Formats: sequence, structure tokens, C-alpha cells
Amino acid sequence: MSQYVVGLTGGIASGKSEVTRRFEALGIVVADADLAARAVVTVGSPALSLIAERFGADMLLADGSLDRARLRAHIFADPAERTALEAITHPAIRRLMQQQCEQAASPYALAAIPLLTEVGGRQAYPWLDRVLLVDAPEAVQHARLMQRDGIDAALADQMIAAQATRAQRLALADDVVVNDGHPDDLQAQVERLHARYLGLAVG
Ligand code: ADP
Repeated sequence: MSQYVVGLTGGIASGKSEVTRRFEALGIVVADADLAARAVVTVGSPALSLIAERFGADMLLADGSLDRARLRAHIFADPAERTALEAITHPAIRRLMQQQCEQAASPYALAAIPLLTEVGGRQAYPWLDRVLLVDAPEAVQHARLMQRDGIDAALADQMIAAQATRAQRLALADDVVVNDGHPDDLQAQVERLHARYLGLAVG
């Protein structure tokens, strides 16, 4: 059971997955917000019932599962509707991730929350003991994003602009992994942090 939890965050294509993989290879359990976001709206879940109540039963497909495309289109242009949806899903996501971290069979756990800054930071996640930022210059993020997702420069610009700024993320961080070089450079940084977190976890 892990009592010590490190939140991992970073901008799009900063290298969060690369860093997370390395912690996992060291035996650290990772709770992933993107996976949790899917898990809390599976058929039969309380959050899915609330979504059908609030947004209408036609947000469900014939098999009772969530019509993601329809819901996404519905909230796309309407911030109030987006807020209403997040009021249902975010508490469920936070609860599930906290539970997964508490039950983790590693000395500490990682909670990977890409949009931590955007969803309320530490106030929304008071059970995080520490925040680790994966940081890369915007130009590097931009180039990686275009290459990874096969998108053009304008769309990559938009996706980066839709997120918090690098400065906002840095303001939230206790620790920073700098990912502006070769992926191999990540390993030593991860091992150093791992040693630090092991020490902090035993308190
Ligand atoms: P995130 O999970 O933050 O969105 P990824 O870990 O998927 O980012 O990294 C974005 C892309 O950049 C991926 O295709 C990944 O393989 C690549 N990448 C990550 N770090 C490096 C690096 N140091 N050098 C070159 N490519 C990298």
C-alpha cells in the first residue's frame, strides 16, 4: 500500500509517456488519468447514469455505452456544458486514481495527470505529496507533436495554445525532468528522482 504519491504532469508531447515507462520499469505503479477517465464512464457506472440524466439518453449508444463522439460534439462549443460534464466526471476520476494509488504495491505511486494545471492543480488533488513536471521547450514539443500525430504546424500550434503555459506548469512543480535532448538522457534523471522518492516515501 502506497502512502506516498507523486503527481506526474507535462504539456502535450513533452515526453510524459517516455518518463512514465521508465518509472514503471523500476516497479512503480502508475495510475493514469486518461485511463481513469474512460473507466469511470463504463456501462453501469454512476457517472454514466448522471451523464444520461443531465445530457439525455441519446448520449448513449444502443448497447448502453457512452457515445463519446456525440458528447464531445455537444460540449465542444459550449463551456457551460463542458463544465457540467466535468462536474460529473472529475470527482469520479480523482476518487478512482486516489484509490489506485493507495492500493499500489510499490513503495510510492505515480499519478499521471497530464492536465493537472488545467484541472485545478494541487487544490483539486490535495493527496499528491509532490508534483513532477516533464518539461520541454515549446519548439521541441511542437516538433514532436507534429511527428508523433502526423499533424500540420497550425494544428500543433492550436493544441499547445489550448493548454496551460510552460510557466504555469513550472509554478506547480517540485521536481522537473528536462526532456530536451536524447531519450537516453531521461534514464539518469528518472533514477535520481526514484532514489529521492524512495527516501521520501519511507519518511
Ligand atoms: P506525452 O506523453 O507527454 O504526450 P510522449 O512521451 O508521447 O509525450 O512523447 C512525444 C513524442 O516525442 C513521442 O513520439 C516520443 O517518442 C518522442 N520523444 C519523447 N522524448 C523524446 C526525446 N528526448 N527525443 C526524441 N523524441 C522524443
